[in-house]
Amino acid sequence: MRAPYASDPAASRGRRYGEAASPPRDDFQRDRDRIVHSTAFRRLVYKTQVFLNHEGDLFRTRLTHSLEVAQLGRSIGRALGLNEDLIEAVALAHDLGHTPFGHAGQDALHECMSTVDPDGGGFEHNFQSLRVVDRLEERYAAFDGLNLTFETREGILKHCSRRHAEWLVANDPTGLGRRFLERRQPSLEAQLCNLADEIAYNAHDIDDGVRSGLLALDQLEELTLIRRQLDEVRTAHPALTGRRVLFETLRRVLSQQVYDVIDTTRAALAEHRVDSVEAVRAQSVLVKFSPEMRRLTDEVQRFLRVNLYRHPQVVATTGRAREVLRELFEAYLADPAQMHAQVLGDRSVARAAADYIAGMTDRFALQEHARLTGRRLDWPARPRAAD
Ligand code: MG
Repeated sequence: MRAPYASDPAASRGRRYGEAASPPRDDFQRDRDRIVHSTAFRRLVYKTQVFLNHEGDLFRTRLTHSLEVAQLGRSIGRALGLNEDLIEAVALAHDLGHTPFGHAGQDALHECMSTVDPDGGGFEHNFQSLRVVDRLEERYAAFDGLNLTFETREGILKHCSRRHAEWLVANDPTGLGRRFLERRQPSLEAQLCNLADEIAYNAHDIDDGVRSGLLALDQLEELTLIRRQLDEVRTAHPALTGRRVLFETLRRVLSQQVYDVIDTTRAALAEHRVDSVEAVRAQSVLVKFSPEMRRLTDEVQRFLRVNLYRHPQVVATTGRAREVLRELFEAYLADPAQMHAQVLGDRSVARAAADYIAGMTDRFALQEHARLTGRRLDWPARPRAAD
């Protein structure tokens, strides 16, 4: 049963370009289908989450990460009576604007763009995800982009700098940027995808961190959230060894977080007597962890920052990735004809280069880099990718 505060496709604020309905699908289901069929979605399989794609076959990629976000989002959303199709659409699209090589790639591209055009807003992956679905996908005869509904686009643009919000208010007639200036919230489905993203990457980065050998199981015991579940697993299954101890622990951590979000959000909805999507927008964020779970999760995030994202081995590979993107950007700026048949339209050469590079898979970026610079980079030693 869908709750009164769930997003209703029949009450959608619609698409930028009017289209006939597509029964039996409703508009959010149609959005999800368009995302799944997009080129940008297929590229996610060869884009880095934390570990580079060629470092091992079992690490998360942007694609498997997005599927995990969709799974967690739908589970929680179902319990709360939210619109699962909208959740799925937003979750599958939320990382479409990510560059190759993960955050290192985005930082490099932001630096490049900020240097060339200090007032241009640089490069933001959230804003880029919106650009992909609004403009960069070329699949339909009648319009650029995927022409998604307002609600899906709103969920995709989860953060936005003031500069980009002001640009949207001036240039986007659908009013998508307004909420950032008015400090209003998006739908519950959008709020949920944001939190599901965080739940997913904390858990899978621990898993991938241990798989890579960069994190040890013992180290995780300093985290209260993990240690509690680890103790329970060891008590319940004293003979269990190896990776299954970690899997069983993470499974329980995920369940705890899911139940916590459901309980906390239900309580917040009841407390504020939220009974419509409009009421949701006027409140502060309603889909959230309890204060205790927030604290425990922040502890995990700090741990991952120090021990995984800043691990010398990860930093060494991300340093290389920055170099690749910077040199690609410089090469395209010096000779725009190298950007295979990219049409500039009303874009600057720099923005076209950023769009082109952001859309690349890790492997295509490396090929292009080798083609344009004549150098093949040797990557630092790979992490040990067991099984
Ligand atoms: Mg994500």
